[in-house]
Amino acid sequence: MMGAVAPTSTHQPTSLELDSLDPEQAAAVRAPRGPVCVLAGAGTGKTRTITHRIAHMVSAGHVKADQVLAVTFTARAAGEMRNRLRALGLGGEASQVQARTFHAAALRQLKYFWPQIVGDVPWRLIDGKFPLVAQAAQRAGLSSATDSVRDLLSEIEWAKASLIAPEDYPGQVAKQRRETPYDALRVAEVYAGYEKLKATPDGLLLDFDDLLLHTAAALEDYPAVADEFRGRYRSFVVDEYQDVTPLQQRVLDAWLGDRDDLTVVGDANQTIYSFTGATPGYLLDFSRRFPDATVVRLERDYRSTPQVVSLANRVIGVARGRIAGTRLQLVGQRPDGPEPAFAEYDDGPAEATAVARSIKRLIDAGTPAAEIAVLYRINAQSESYEQALTERGIPYQVRGGEGFFSRPEVRQAVSVLRQAASREDLPVESRSGTALVTLVRAVLAPVGLTAQEPAGAQAREKWSSLVALVRLTEELLDHDADLDLAGLLRELAARAEARHPPTVQGVTLASLHAAKGLEWDAVFLVGLADGTLPIAHVLADDGSVGDEAALEEERRLLYVGVTRAREHLQLSWALARGEGKRRTRRRSRFLNGLVPDDSPASRIAAPLADTAPKGIRPSCRVCAKPLIGTYATMLGRCRRCPAELDVELLTALQEWRSEKAQALQVREFVIFTDTTLTAIAEQLPGDDAALAAIAGIGAKKLDQYGADVLAIIASRLRARPQNRR
Ligand code: ATP
Ligand code: MG
Repeated sequence: MMGAVAPTSTHQPTSLELDSLDPEQAAAVRAPRGPVCVLAGAGTGKTRTITHRIAHMVSAGHVKADQVLAVTFTARAAGEMRNRLRALGLGGEASQVQARTFHAAALRQLKYFWPQIVGDVPWRLIDGKFPLVAQAAQRAGLSSATDSVRDLLSEIEWAKASLIAPEDYPGQVAKQRRETPYDALRVAEVYAGYEKLKATPDGLLLDFDDLLLHTAAALEDYPAVADEFRGRYRSFVVDEYQDVTPLQQRVLDAWLGDRDDLTVVGDANQTIYSFTGATPGYLLDFSRRFPDATVVRLERDYRSTPQVVSLANRVIGVARGRIAGTRLQLVGQRPDGPEPAFAEYDDGPAEATAVARSIKRLIDAGTPAAEIAVLYRINAQSESYEQALTERGIPYQVRGGEGFFSRPEVRQAVSVLRQAASREDLPVESRSGTALVTLVRAVLAPVGLTAQEPAGAQAREKWSSLVALVRLTEELLDHDADLDLAGLLRELAARAEARHPPTVQGVTLASLHAAKGLEWDAVFLVGLADGTLPIAHVLADDGSVGDEAALEEERRLLYVGVTRAREHLQLSWALARGEGKRRTRRRSRFLNGLVPDDSPASRIAAPLADTAPKGIRPSCRVCAKPLIGTYATMLGRCRRCPAELDVELLTALQEWRSEKAQALQVREFVIFTDTTLTAIAEQLPGDDAALAAIAGIGAKKLDQYGADVLAIIASRLRARPQNRR
């Protein structure tokens, strides 16, 4: 859950109260030293139970705080665990419990033990694996094009996480019937080549997986290291244990040695990282490995209303396979709340607008923005929500990834588009209108915009961002048929500028993967169309199921999403991608049987009142037509409408901004963006009201800088020879 304490009924203990635990939770907390396994569904208090168990063990004197090592999979989850320990009244001791990710823990240990095991051979963490894999690919006679290298890289990562050495790779993929980007022998050759390239004359380069491998090996092969380590750490705790990889398990085993003071908690039905090599097998086999383990099952759901819990049970109730067989029916413990809502929209932009508007209403009615989340399947879906929230002045933060325009691939794409715009050999007619889309595609091709969706999770993410840029271009062209490349670049820059700087108090935008373990009062699950969730590549070309196991993992993603909501939950999808485009999409197959009125004729569309009254769009101050796009809205005029820009005033404003930024120690755009300053220098506002009417200037900025800006304008106007207004 988020750091902030929810104002609703969520119980947050401030001291170690065993009576705030239910009997099963208390059993896990009080279990004697030794193996403990909590197998339970979402929201049943697993994370809460392990933090209480740590606090209990420490305060009862079973173990010292600094002898506990608690591991999770993301830095955020580790931070959350530290927060919860602090909230339990462990005080200063809480900070001595090591709550880390596997990688962070291994990095620390390796730094410490390296001199003992390797002596003075220097090593450092690799900055980017990409160039090395590219080199290895080239040597093996394979393409070193971006997509090819990404695929190879994903394979290498999977193999290392699965503890498969290069020479065993071909045999293992054959055994597991794994699809490989190239012939398995060639992939193995690249993998071996990559491993060799990391041993450079100046020392060893280690990737993240090497950190884990070397840590395990140090403990396995050097008894002195193992003795020292095991004397130091006595008790181990793992959250989200269903997502452990064989490599991480090997590190855990090396930590333990022949001891068994291990507490694990997890939910096999929330396994969502299989593609990285993670497996719920260790969780499900725990009591076979440790026959005297205390095994606890939790069924009471303390997070969500019975309405949300019922939907969650129905989502996972139809899952198939071994994992599904371990599910438990959740029983909601909270008071009733609203029924989850389902909403269908004509197109993606309409969906984003409506969701932003619902969020605004929730905030106006008192739900803190930090208690609201928009969750999607792939990060490229964030752009339209970032835009819709920005347009309504709602602060947000993008989690588990960066904001759309900060992503490396988007920055690279914008930069190659800029280069293209400055090229003189491009014929003018290829730069605007419908030819613009073709041009954008062509320019983005070398950056990774292939015709076919690539394989590999990372490659797909990047590819999807590029596709989102093409879509955005199409959308803008729909509104402005003769948009040109320069205009497109201006719009992209304005959008990037207008986005709020990251804030911790904002609405969370996150992928379903990044939302694991977290909770919010209100959750919007968006873009639930077939081909997005489940994602297209688990389906065969005709839409039938291609990969049964992968389809089940997609279903678990929906389960994870639904179970993030405490109270308000909305599930939505759009029938067309772009505005006015053909309705080629259908809602997710996972929603069949869940949507209340399931007759095809019924539109579960948002109420009509939810579509924007036409007059609300700001209009151009020159031609009075409605304004489309961020750039135009900020300037208050159509891109092509004439404007008189007072260049000297703009320069004066820029100088003022740079002094101010220096004085306040902030970046310039935090004060005003370039577009806002341009708008001021064009519109020459004479008072607070006129200044506030400019997009990008809210009450706070008016308060902080309004007087300064108005004074600069006034003095410039007095100095003007013709003194015009
Ligand atoms: P997930 O599977 O999503 O990681 P989880 O099982 O780890 O969920 P927690 O995050 O620990 O669940 O708990 C869910 C919510 O329920 C939290 O807000 C927690 O404080 C609350 N909670 C857990 N147990 C109790 C309890 N016994 N009484 C009151 N509230 C509880
Ligand atoms: Mg949890």
